[in-house]
Amino acid sequence: MDFLDEAIVKAKDMFSVAKKKTGEAVAIGKQKYDIASIENRLNKSYVALGKICYESFKNDEAASDEIKALISQIESEINEIELAKEEIVRIKGGRICAECGAAVGENSAFCSHCGAKLIFTE
Ligand SMILES: [Zn+2]
Repeated sequence: MDFLDEAIVKAKDMFSVAKKKTGEAVAIGKQKYDIASIENRLNKSYVALGKICYESFKNDEAASDEIKALISQIESEINEIELAKEEIVRIKGGRICAECGAAVGENSAFCSHCGAKLIFTE
């Protein structure tokens, strides 16, 4: 085998290795994409289960301390979201009904949702 033949064999080997590595990279990429997709579905399942557990345990005095702590955290976060939504209403010039929490017009005397008389707090 002369120098040129050896060079051709080496080049073919290198090409074969590169082709194999590319094939592996594509196959691994597909598996990683599948894992990410399954993890996304798994997280949605956990959230759905968590909501069911929250509803089931939120008034359960016998729930474990860990569950009670998470329920307390969830209630705090729900409250934070409500406060942020109310702030958006205020920024837009509206007010919140103290009775039902609905957004009401700046000059309304009664809540358009529950009919309660609106009290100015500022
Ligand atoms: Zn109301």
